[in-house]
Amino acid sequence: MDVFFGDLHNHCGITYGFGSLENALKVARTHLDFTSITGHAMWPDIPAKNEDTAFIVDFHEKGFEKLRENWTDIRKQIAQANTDGLVTFQGYEMHSSAYGDHHLVSPSDDLKLVYRETPNELVRDCGAQAIAVPHHIAYVPGYRGINWDSFDETISPIVEVYSKHGCSMHADSPYPYYHNMGPRDPRNTVEQGLKRLKCFSFVASTDHHAGFPGSYGDGLAAIWAEEKTRESLWNAILKGRTYAVTGDRIRGFLKVNDAWMGETISTSRRTVTCHIEGDSAIKQVRLYRNGECIRCENGKFSKEKSTRFKLRIEMGWGNHQESFKWDGRLQIENGRIIRGYPCLRGKSVLSPTEMKGKNPSEDINAMDNQMQ
Ligand SMILES: [Zn+2]
Repeated sequence: MDVFFGDLHNHCGITYGFGSLENALKVARTHLDFTSITGHAMWPDIPAKNEDTAFIVDFHEKGFEKLRENWTDIRKQIAQANTDGLVTFQGYEMHSSAYGDHHLVSPSDDLKLVYRETPNELVRDCGAQAIAVPHHIAYVPGYRGINWDSFDETISPIVEVYSKHGCSMHADSPYPYYHNMGPRDPRNTVEQGLKRLKCFSFVASTDHHAGFPGSYGDGLAAIWAEEKTRESLWNAILKGRTYAVTGDRIRGFLKVNDAWMGETISTSRRTVTCHIEGDSAIKQVRLYRNGECIRCENGKFSKEKSTRFKLRIEMGWGNHQESFKWDGRLQIENGRIIRGYPCLRGKSVLSPTEMKGKNPSEDINAMDNQMQ
């Protein structure tokens, strides 16, 4: 098997995000193995519209309507993009105050856009194989954070534990929630779900809102699969052979005896094997059992003289509203470049804001064709 990296949850202008679907797919093809482009579809228990909630209610309803009107065409474009090294999945998102937000992911181009009250009803009635992935789970219970009481592992084999919203692992994780939907609530973390014996695997995805799937630093899903095809990646997702990374494409796996991540086994004697390979020096590896850290390895660095080096090059354009076309070239003398990893980051947008003039223009994340 090999490990593949992608983004199962991100948005663009097909609803209330920004940027075109076409550009989002082009971005994904530039640097990801797989992607799903998620349309905001419904919020069955949306707050009543009044003076305070008018802005929120209005932009959501307009976005939902846009998806409804263009669903056939959107699904077709995503289906057609499933080619030449990029695997695409279909999907859309349900906001829910009661159950927490979920996005559907499906390997079927026949996925139907249906409107229901619960994630279970959506999965049951969408006319295709699909799972419902809970995301930004650590918001307050009752306002779009996860509801561990109703969590159902049969429709949610994976949970999104990190995105632009922040890290949901536990109350003190790095990357706190700083978006305007509220703080991280310690009752709604991954740690609490595991304590309650809920069974699921981890992924990260960006939840980017301006058409830049896989934006560096906002989270990626890693999947161990036999090959880079829809079928193989989908089977791996169902088996829970996944993990989450925040930024760099850390390669890692963990086995207990011969069982892979995501498997359930019964044994009295456990041999744990793990392998981790990062782009930077590894500071620490921790092994947890029943919520307790039972082993901690600090990074060991080779003292041998190396002739191979990793170089990180950063370029950016701050908070400008218009994109800038970089024209750069990297070359090396008396040596050769063995390989390179893109760390491409889109204009950082989570959702529309009420501040006039602060929303990005349509083409803010336009991907230049010549990028190689
Ligand atoms: Zn979302």
